[in-house]
Amino acid sequence: MCRVGAMIDHVQYFQRYSMQEAQKRALLEELYKKGIRNESVLRAIAAVPREKFLPHALQHRAYDNVSLPIGSSQTISQPYTVAFMTELLALSPEEYATTKILEVGTGSGYQTAILAYMGVRRIYTIERIPGLLEEAKKRFKELGIQQIHTQLADGTLGWEEEAPFDAIIVTAGSPDVPQALALQLALGGRLVIPIGSRMQQRLYRVRRIREGTDPGAFRAEEFQHFRFVPLVGEQGWQEE
Ligand code: SAH
Repeated sequence: MCRVGAMIDHVQYFQRYSMQEAQKRALLEELYKKGIRNESVLRAIAAVPREKFLPHALQHRAYDNVSLPIGSSQTISQPYTVAFMTELLALSPEEYATTKILEVGTGSGYQTAILAYMGVRRIYTIERIPGLLEEAKKRFKELGIQQIHTQLADGTLGWEEEAPFDAIIVTAGSPDVPQALALQLALGGRLVIPIGSRMQQRLYRVRRIREGTDPGAFRAEEFQHFRFVPLVGEQGWQEE
């Protein structure tokens, strides 16, 4: 009786496991069809267990291409958004060991983990909500990710002591480019950031193309529309 029970558990475990694998494969195909071609990004999405970044009740939806609530009125970004933004950072594998990246808006930690699984060695991430940051830190530890430095702060001001950064990724929507972030870019560095209204934003990639702090030292490219939660802080939105 016991052994049969154990066998059923075993079968159910494998059914669930293989269903999740099938869902993951379908998600990767969807991302590819939507134009994501960067192999390191796709491999990282395949490798990071997104279910571990979700509340229990939503874990069965881990490989749906949707954003989902993670508590404190915040969301984990849609896998396509994460893939698109990571691709925009335009990192080449030769740079992973040396590139210094700042993420503003740790949230669940999923985007941070994607960068870590890609092999990026110097990752700094800032979150303003204490409970979310604590949970994200627990996840990094559980997954054995050690190269992530975290800070509880207003990320619109950047991380002055660790600047300059080769890449900065902001995962919340801003009314404009926070000046502090632009100024913490290394020469040749890029900032990927959603800019727009509170309700809808467009992705921008801002590159620091020459020395100096005048507008001519930066070049901006515009990409498609997305919806993010607001970037709340001194150089972002005011809390409502
Ligand atoms: N990268 C996250 C996305 C979370 S949503 C993920 O994949 O789960 C955006 C996050 O940005 C939220 O957790 C929100 O609290 C945080 N945030 C908003 N304004 C911020 C600020 N000024 N500094 C740091 N974090 C901020």
